[in-house]
Amino acid sequence: MERYSRIENKCKREIVLLKARPCAWSKCTFCDYIEDNSTCIDEMLKINADVLSHVTGEYGVLEVIDSASIFELPQQTLELIKQIIHDKNIHTLFVESHWIYHSKIQQMRDYFGINMIIKTGVETFDDDFRNRVLNKNVTFSSIEELKSYFDSPCLMVGIKGQTKEMIQKDMEILTKHFQYGTINIYRNNSTPIQRDDQLIQWFMQNYAYLQDDPRYDFLCDPTDFGVGD
Ligand code: SF4
Repeated sequence: MERYSRIENKCKREIVLLKARPCAWSKCTFCDYIEDNSTCIDEMLKINADVLSHVTGEYGVLEVIDSASIFELPQQTLELIKQIIHDKNIHTLFVESHWIYHSKIQQMRDYFGINMIIKTGVETFDDDFRNRVLNKNVTFSSIEELKSYFDSPCLMVGIKGQTKEMIQKDMEILTKHFQYGTINIYRNNSTPIQRDDQLIQWFMQNYAYLQDDPRYDFLCDPTDFGVGD
């Protein structure tokens, strides 16, 4: 499993995939990466310290992800990240969190005290598909409410049951309202949620230009950041 990489295009940054406690939600129907979660504190601390030792600070920007939310990292790992931010002159930190922690986001921003881009798995702005089919439990009531906590929605494209209209609306909201975001093309995994190749083909014919939009990361495969497996 690769846990350290550099993202060399768009917003250049180093990225680390750390090990965290089990995702507090753990019930999204398409998710199997929670299998990387751990309950062994020693294992988490050891792996995380090793991965973080590779960070050089060369871009001044670091992204920290884990197979859960930033809030599921052990406190000692958060302290180590803070130390590295200081030692390596990192000015911007990308992290990810589920909506269930929205009321604690400001606390996390205050803890690190630098510019933070907080990503969150929205998957789609279609409330019914997001919460009934994908079981996300992401329940913001307006774009403004979402934006008051999070900077960067992660959207999923190409799941069976999604429609062209849903995706058109998702891309419209993303490009109109957000300066950061991630577009993930869905890849089949060990869950029953299936990829829709025809829908993805249509999407690539109509939205491939977003691959060049400097505001958004565009992942044709979940491992395109160079971490994971
Ligand atoms: S919140 Fe993220 S890590 Fe947790 S189950 Fe959903 S997709 Fe998986």
